This record gives sequence, structure tokens and C-alpha cells, in this order.
Amino acid sequence: MALVSLEHVTKSYPAADRKADPVVAVDDVSLDIEAGAVFGIIGYSGAGKSTLVRLVNALEPATSGSIRIDGREITGLRERELRAIRLGIGMIFQQFNLFDAKTVRANVAYPLKVAGWRRADIRARVDELLEFVGLADKAAAHPDQLSGGQKQRVGIARALATRPRILLADEATSALDPETTHEVLTLLKRVNEEQGVTIIVITHEMDVIQTIATKVAVMDRGRVIEHGDVFDVFSRP
Ligand code: ADP
Ligand code: ADP
Repeated sequence: MALVSLEHVTKSYPAADRKADPVVAVDDVSLDIEAGAVFGIIGYSGAGKSTLVRLVNALEPATSGSIRIDGREITGLRERELRAIRLGIGMIFQQFNLFDAKTVRANVAYPLKVAGWRRADIRARVDELLEFVGLADKAAAHPDQLSGGQKQRVGIARALATRPRILLADEATSALDPETTHEVLTLLKRVNEEQGVTIIVITHEMDVIQTIATKVAVMDRGRVIEHGDVFDVFSRP
């Protein structure tokens, strides 16, 4: 059974001009993402990638279709149940979305505080995470004292804090130079291999997919126009 399964998922938004047709951001998408995969979703700006991520993370409801995570249908769940689903999914972002006024340690600790962990457990988990991402010596620093690559490593540590099974990376390397991109992708590969986290990588950059993904879906105007093994999809004429 796939870890994430989408069947005929559509999401439309009302047009700004109420008389115009709705904007169909995701159009009849069916996809299976297996546990343990690094699954890439690639497409130009406006293809519907971010919308798809928000649907999988249960931040917005689909207009129609079925989304199952670990076999469980998430459409129609109550807010309380959705929060539990979201705890099992970590997210990292292009602009890192760190709390600038908080230390690195406090940023990573944040989701654990929200989840109600005890102080001593938070301390131990944060130490472990900062060690894993190679930032143990930056615990007391603030984000503005870090490079872009270091900020994204804090983002990864925070996203992994509650031990999610799925990590969604939405253009997570798009603000980074090629060398730093490579460094962050290498870390994500370790997250996948050493921690068994399934990673969904959203990007407009083919290099990123070719560096870490095993499977890929190509989106265009809300639809998945091709999907399969990275090698097969990209070697097709
Ligand atoms: P991508 O992430 O691939 O750039 P998006 O998912 O952001 O694509 O957008 C897909 C389409 O849906 C675009 O046409 C966008 O303008 C539209 N869209 C996305 N979010 C909304 C929204 N909240 N309201 C209206 N239209 C939206
Ligand atoms: P802020 O002032 O933005 O709230 P702090 O640095 O004061 O950020 O820390 C907020 C939270 O982060 C603390 O309540 C604690 O849970 C965690 N934290 C910060 N520093 C430590 C630390 N040295 N050891 C353990 N937890 C810490």
C-alpha cells in the first residue's frame, strides 16, 4: 500500500472576477507515493505544485477526489484529526520560514513545545537534531547570523523534530547557490536513508530531481503529464 495515495484529486479556486471560470490549480491528479521514496514533483511556476503540497499536508481541502495517507482518507476529517495528520508531516520552504527573533535551539524546539513535550525531552531531542544537521555549535545563534545553507539545515532539523514519516520540501533549495544546494540535498538524502523518512521534493529544477529523487511526476497546468522512474521520464524524447 502506498504511503500517500491521490485519486482523481481536483482543487479549484473561484476566479478573482466572479463571472469568470474557476481556476483549476490541480486537475484530476492520481499518484501513489511509496514509503521510503524520494519522490520529485517538477513543473513550471503555476503548474499546481504548491497547491498539491497544501492538499497533502491537509492545509486545504480538495474540491473532489481522494487523498489517503497511510491508508487513511483525509478528506472530510475534522480539524482535530487533521492536526494529528499534520504532525506526521514535516515541511521545509524556499524562504526557510524560521522565527528570526528566536535562537536556532528555540526554532527547533518550537514544534516539540507545541506538541507538549517535556522540557528535558525537548532538550535531548534538539541536541540530537542539531548534531544530525551539523549545527550543534550554532544552537545559541539567531537565524540572521547563519548562511542560507545553515538556515535550511535548521529548517530541516525543525521539520524532523516530531519524527514525521513524510517530509515535504517545497522549492527548498531554490534560494541557494549550486554548492549549498548540493550540501542540502546530500543532507536530505541522509534523512531518507538513515531515518527512513519519505521525502516529497517540489521543484522547478531538473538538477534537483536528478540529484536525489528516485521517482518523479511532471506537472503542467494542474495535471500530471508524466510520471515514473526519474531515469525513464527524463530520457524520453
Ligand atoms: P506552483 O506551485 O506550481 O507554482 P501553484 O499551486 O502555486 O503552482 O498555483 C497553481 C495555479 O493555481 C496558479 O494558476 C495559481 O494562480 C492558482 N492558485 C494557487 N493558489 C490559489 C489561491 N489561493 N487562490 C486562487 N488561485 C490560486
Ligand atoms: P524566545 O525568547 O524566542 O522564546 P528562547 O531562546 O528564550 O526563545 O527559547 C524558547 C524555548 O526554546 C524555551 O522555552 C525552551 O523550550 C527552548 N530552549 C531555549 N534554549 C534552551 C536550552 N538552552 N535548553 C533547552 N531548551 C531551550
